[in-house]
Amino acid sequence: MNKGLMIVISGPAGSGKGTVNAHLLRTGDFAFSVSATTRAPRPGEIDGVNYHYITREEFLRRIESGDMLEYTQYCGNYYGTPLKEAEEVLNTGKHLILEIEVEGARNVKARYPDALLILLLPPSFAVQEQRLRGRGTETEEKILERLARTREELGFADCYDYVVYNRDGHDQDAAGEILSILRAEQCSMKRNRDIVNTYFN
Ligand code: 5GP
Repeated sequence: MNKGLMIVISGPAGSGKGTVNAHLLRTGDFAFSVSATTRAPRPGEIDGVNYHYITREEFLRRIESGDMLEYTQYCGNYYGTPLKEAEEVLNTGKHLILEIEVEGARNVKARYPDALLILLLPPSFAVQEQRLRGRGTETEEKILERLARTREELGFADCYDYVVYNRDGHDQDAAGEILSILRAEQCSMKRNRDIVNTYFN
């Protein structure tokens, strides 16, 4: 059985990552990597579903024993992708989605050059700002902090293989574009280097 692809999807706050990823998961061809984190669960979040919530000591122990595929510190907390779970998913042939921030994305690419890195963006900064304010879930300070971080994140845009825009009301189309990218990648010569051997067998 073919191994699935490792797909990193990053996007600034308000890009609609969760909604687009939910469309992908519904196809049945993808699995979502559940990260470990030291941050406290938010109301409604479930341990083992949204994140594995662990202590700082436990997180540091896991880094030390090589259990993390990548990790980062973000706003005072550790976040990381459990290596064993990721490998288990890829061995089933499903594509693995890592919904992680830019530094983690860069580290994944350094360790797994075949990983596919996709940057999901709102159609413009102005729309992103509208979405964040429209949610009404964050304080003005938090909104400004997240908007400021977007400028930093876009500084890393070059690390990504593809950019997909998520226009208002078109999240299904954004998911469709990601599926098209994946199909094209699977036909790419760089991912089919063994054709000469397999063709004549
Ligand atoms: P939040 O606290 O809002 O759930 O996540 C904060 C940020 O950490 C988001 O940008 C999210 O994509 C990122 N993140 C979540 N899990 C991981 C992970 O395992 N590794 C890295 N590098 N970033 C993560």
